[in-house]
Amino acid sequence: MKAIRRFTVRAVIPEALAALDELALNLRWSWHRPTQRLFRSISEEAWHASHDPIQLLGAVEPARLEELAADPAFVQQANDLRDDLRRYLSEPRWYQGLVDAPQSIAYFSAEFGVAAALPQYSGGLGILAGDHLKAASDLGVPLIGIGLFYRSGYFRQSISGDGWQQEAYPVLDPDGLPLSVLRRPDGMAARVSLGLPDGRALAARVWVAEVGRVKLLLLDTNIRDNDEELRSVTDRLYGGGGEHRLLQELLLGIGGVRAIALAVELLGVAQPTVFHTNEGHSGFQGLERISNLIGEGLSFDEALQVVRAGTVFTTHTPVPAGIDRFERPLIERYFATPDLLPGVTLDQVLGLALESQMGGPDSVFNMAVLGLRLGQHANGVAKLHGRVSRAMFQPLWPGFDADEVPITSVTNGVHAPTWVDSSLIALAEAHFGTGDTTRVDWESDQVTDAGLWAARNEMRASTVADARRRVRAAHEAAGGVAPAWTDEVLDANTLTIGFARRGASYKRLTLMLHDKERLAKILLDPERPVQIVVAGKAHPADDEGKRLIQELYEFAEQPEIREHLVFLPNYDITMAQTLYPGTDVWLNNPLRPMEACGTSGMKAALNGSLNLSILDGWWDEYYDGKNGWAIPSADSAGDSDERDALEAAALYDLIEHQLAPMFYERSEDGIPVAWLGRVRYDLKTLSPELSADRMVMQYVQELYAPAHHFAAKLDAHGFAAARALSAWKRKVVAAWPQVAVAHVESGGLDAVPQVGEELHLRAHVALGALAPADVRVEVVYGRSESAAGDELTELRSQELELEGGAPAKGGAATTAFGGIVVLDRAGSFGYTVRVLPKNELLASAAELGLVASAG
Ligand SMILES: *Cc1c(COP(=O)(O)O)cnc(C)c1O
Repeated sequence: MKAIRRFTVRAVIPEALAALDELALNLRWSWHRPTQRLFRSISEEAWHASHDPIQLLGAVEPARLEELAADPAFVQQANDLRDDLRRYLSEPRWYQGLVDAPQSIAYFSAEFGVAAALPQYSGGLGILAGDHLKAASDLGVPLIGIGLFYRSGYFRQSISGDGWQQEAYPVLDPDGLPLSVLRRPDGMAARVSLGLPDGRALAARVWVAEVGRVKLLLLDTNIRDNDEELRSVTDRLYGGGGEHRLLQELLLGIGGVRAIALAVELLGVAQPTVFHTNEGHSGFQGLERISNLIGEGLSFDEALQVVRAGTVFTTHTPVPAGIDRFERPLIERYFATPDLLPGVTLDQVLGLALESQMGGPDSVFNMAVLGLRLGQHANGVAKLHGRVSRAMFQPLWPGFDADEVPITSVTNGVHAPTWVDSSLIALAEAHFGTGDTTRVDWESDQVTDAGLWAARNEMRASTVADARRRVRAAHEAAGGVAPAWTDEVLDANTLTIGFARRGASYKRLTLMLHDKERLAKILLDPERPVQIVVAGKAHPADDEGKRLIQELYEFAEQPEIREHLVFLPNYDITMAQTLYPGTDVWLNNPLRPMEACGTSGMKAALNGSLNLSILDGWWDEYYDGKNGWAIPSADSAGDSDERDALEAAALYDLIEHQLAPMFYERSEDGIPVAWLGRVRYDLKTLSPELSADRMVMQYVQELYAPAHHFAAKLDAHGFAAARALSAWKRKVVAAWPQVAVAHVESGGLDAVPQVGEELHLRAHVALGALAPADVRVEVVYGRSESAAGDELTELRSQELELEGGAPAKGGAATTAFGGIVVLDRAGSFGYTVRVLPKNELLASAAELGLVASAG
C-alpha cells in the first residue's frame, strides 16, 4: 500500500491520570526505575513492545485507563511520582553549590541517544551525548542541548538469509514522540531560517525534548516552508555525503545558535555563556556567533576572541580519516552567500579551517581544524586519546612539542542510572540502603557472595532469554517459522562473553574468528564451555563492514556453533541495556590506538562484567592488573596479518587459561569465589570513576568554568578586553619575526655538577617592537637522553625575570632576563631558553603557535 498518510493520535488520558502525561513527556522516566515500573504496571505487554510510555498510553484500551483512574492506589502512586519529578526539576543539586559557575551552557551534538523511544543516534557519540545530558540534569548543570530531528533516525538492521546487512528507515512521527514544538505566544510554531545560495532559504521548526532538567532542542526541516529537497535535509542521520551533510551541519551550527535565541526568548532559559561542541559537526556555531558580534560592532578578529574564549571543542577520533571534511568549492559556494552569515567573508571562513594549516591540501575544509580554531578550550576523550590528539594536531602549533599542544582530555563516562541493571540496583538497595551502585562498598561483606552471584545469574538469564526472543523474532520477520533449536540458543549458566559495537573496521569484529577451530574448541569445551553474544551495525555505505558481519554470521550459523555464538540484529539502546549486564566478560579488540575511548566496556563494568580488552581508550588508563584482563597489543608486528594473529592468539590464551578456569572454579555451594572477588573489586573501584557524573563534573571544573571565566573577561565593558586582545595579538604576530634569543650566559656550576647546585642563567633577548611584559622568557629543562642530544623528556619550565637592558654583541638592543635553576635530581640534564607571547587572556602559552628558541 503506497501513499499511506500516517499520523499519531495521542491517547485521551482520564482527568484523574493527568500525572501520567507529565511523567511520559519528561524523559527522566528513561532512567527513573519507579516511573518505569508505574508504566509497566499499566500493561506489561505494551511496555515490552515499545519501552515507551507515550506508545504505551496509545496502545492500551481506554477501558484499562478508566479502570486505573478509578483505582485510588494507582492514582496516588502516579501523583506521588509526578510530585517527585517536580521536586527533581526544581531542587538545588550539586551545581547549585558552586560559585561563579556559568548560568547556562549550550551543548551541541549531531546525535543524541537518550532513550530507545527517541532514536536519534547511531552509536557511541550519540549515547555519550545522551548520558552527558542526563548526568548534567542529575547534577543540576544548566545545560541546553542542540541537535537535529532526523525523520528516520539511524537505520534498523536486519540480516538476510545469506548474512548480508539490510537497512530500513522507519519514518518517525514527532507527534508520537516525547517532543513538543516550540511556539510563539500567538501559537505559531517558531522557525529558524538560513540564507542559501541562489536566493533560497532553509527553514526549520524546533522540537523540544525534556531530558530531566535539560531542554534538548532538535531542528527539523520537514515543514511546508521548504521545497521537497530542503525538507529532506534532516531526513536521516549521516545519510548522505557532501552537500547533504554540509546542509545538516550548517543547520546544526548556525540554526542551532538561532534556536537558542528563540529558546531564551520563548522558554525563558538563560543565555548561554559557554558553547560546547561535541565533535566537529557543529563547528559552524562559532561562525554564527561571530556574525552576531560583528552586528554589535566588533571586527571579525575581535569577535573571534570572544567566541574562542567561551567555546569548548571535544574531538572524538584518533583516526585522521574519521574527521569530517568538505571540498573547498562546496564551502565557497555556501559561504559566498551574503545572507548566510552577515558580516563574515568567505576568506575569513576559509582562513579558519583549510587543511593546509596542518600540512594538508588547501582544497579541503576540515571541521576539526575549525573546532580547534574556534575553541580556546579543547579536549580528547581519554588520556591516551588526548596524547594521540596532541600529536595529530601538533602541526597547528608549529614550534611546540606535541606535549604542549593545548588539547587536554576528559575521559568519557556512562550514566549509571540508565545502564545499571535493576537486579544490581535492587541488591544495593537491599544491602546498602541506596540504589546508587557507584557509591557503595562492594567489597564489604554486607553483600554475600551468594547474593551477588544470584544477581549475576539473574542478569545472565535475562540476556539469554532476550537473545532467544530476538533470534526467534528475526526468523519470523524473515517470513519463516523459528526452528526448534532457537529455543536452545545460549545457556544461562555458561561463561558469557559479549561483543557489540559499530562495524568500523578498526574494531575488528572478526578477530575472534582468526583461528576458527580454536574458537570452536573454546565454545564447545565439555567442562568449561564459553558462549559469545555479538551485535553491531555497519555503516550503510561500508561494504567491508558488512562483509565482516557476514563472515561472523556464517560462522555462527553452523549447526554445532549456533547455540554457542549468536549474532543479534539491530543493536540499540534497548538491546544494550539487557546485553551488558548479562555478560560475564566484555570483549574489546580494537587496533590500538584507534579507539578514542569506548564506552560499552564501561557500561559492562558498572554491572560487574569484567573487561577483556586491548589496552586502548579508557582501558589503557584504568586497567590495573586486577580489574579484568589486558590483551597485549602487538604494535611492533611486521604487518596487520601478523598483528591480528598475535593478538588473536593472546585472546584465546587468556580465555582458555585464565577466564574459563577462574569462572568454573567453584566452592562447595557452587560459587566462583575468586571470580566474584574480581567482580566486587571491579564494581567498587571502577563504578565511581566510569560514571558520567565524574565526567560532567570534570567538564564543569576543567573546561566550562575556565571558558566562562575567559568569556566574561572579554565580554565586560562593551568587549573592551576583546578589542585589546585582538589588537595585542596583531601586534605580537607582526613583531614576532624580530623576536629572538640573542645569546644565553650560564654559570654557577662545578665541572661535575651535583644535585643541589644552582645553574645561573642570563638570556639576552631581542624583542623588536614588543615590550618585556608582552613575553614570557623561560628556561625549559629536563632529561636529555637521546644520542643526538636534541630531545628533552620530563620537561619542566621556569620563567626568567626581567633584569634590564644591555647592548647585545651585534649592537642591536636586547633585554636581559635571568634566573636560577636548582638541579634537584641526578642524571643527564639539558636545557634551552625560549620566548613565548604572554597575556593573561591566553589559556595556553602555545595558543598563538609562536615561539622563539635559542639557536
Ligand atoms: C554504548 C553504546 C555504543 C558505544 O559503544 P563503544 O564501546 O563506544 O563502541 C554503541 N551503541 C550502543 C547502542 C551503545 O549502547
